[in-house]
Amino acid sequence: MPEKYLVIGGNGFLGRHVLEQIRLRKDGSSIAVFDIVKPADAPADIKFYVGDLRKFEDVSAALEGITAVIHTASPPHVNSSNPPRDLYFSINVDGTKNVIAACKAKGIKKLVVTSSGSVISTGESMVNVDESTPYPPQAIDVYTESKIECEKVVLAANGEEGLTTCTIRPSAIFGPGDRQLIPGMLEVCQKGQHKFQIGDNSSLMDFTYVGNVAYAHVLAAEKLGDVKSEAAGQAFNVTNGTPVPF
Ligand code: NAD
Repeated sequence: MPEKYLVIGGNGFLGRHVLEQIRLRKDGSSIAVFDIVKPADAPADIKFYVGDLRKFEDVSAALEGITAVIHTASPPHVNSSNPPRDLYFSINVDGTKNVIAACKAKGIKKLVVTSSGSVISTGESMVNVDESTPYPPQAIDVYTESKIECEKVVLAANGEEGLTTCTIRPSAIFGPGDRQLIPGMLEVCQKGQHKFQIGDNSSLMDFTYVGNVAYAHVLAAEKLGDVKSEAAGQAFNVTNGTPVPF
C-alpha cells in the first residue's frame, strides 16, 4: 500500500537509509523529510521541512497530508561526565510528545520511533535477551534514560485516537554514512588510546548494519495502522544476528 511518509531526522545517518529503503520498495509511496539541518545535497525529489522537534508548530506543519511517520531524530550519544540532560530530554521526550500530539491531531495512524538497545541494558553481560526483558531500575546513562522515557510515551500512545505505534531498538549501528562509531574508533586510535585492553577479548557486542535497521523501520510501518496488528504497541530489538568481539 503506498504511504505518504515523513522521516523525522531524515538528514541523519539512519534517516538517510530509511529514505533509501522506502525508495527500494517501489510501491508508489512518497517521502518527505523533517530535520533541523538541511544539507546542500538534499535530494530534489523529496520535500524537505527544516524544523525543530521541540516546536509543535514546526512538526505539525510537516505532517500535513502524511499517512506514516518514521521518527529517527535524537541528539548524538556523547560519553561525558557532564551529559546534556536537558537537551536529551527536551528532544527525545518532549519533542517526541510533540510528534505524538501532532500525529493524533492530523489523524495519522502509523508512528515508528527509533529507540536503542541500551534501554534494557543493565551494564552487565546480557546474552540472548528478548523484548520481555524489563527496563533496569537504573538506566546506564542519561542518554539512555531519555530513550527509555521516549519509548514509554510512544508505546503508551498506541491505540489513542486511531494512532498505532512501535519502537525499534538497534544496538550500535554501522555502515555507509556513519558519523559516530568508526569516527569514534579512529579518534581513539589517533589519540593512542588503543594500546590497552579491558578483559580477555571475549566480550561480545551487537553491531547492526544500517540498511537492516532502516529496513526494520519500514517493515514496522507497513505492519502498523490497526491496533490489532502484531506490531502495534510493541518494542523490537533488532540485531544482525551473531554478536562479535568488541
Ligand atoms: P544522526 O545524528 O546521524 O541523526 C539524527 C538526526 O536527527 C540528525 O539529522 C539531526 O539533525 C536530527 N535532529 C536532531 N535534533 C533534532 C531536532 N530537535 N529537530 C529535528 N531534527 C533533529 O543519528 P543516527 O546515528 O542516525 O541515529 C538515529 C537514531 O538511532 C537516534 O534516535 C539514535 O538514538 C538511534 N540509535 C543510534 C545508534 C547508532 O549507533 N548510531 C544506536 C542506537 C540507537
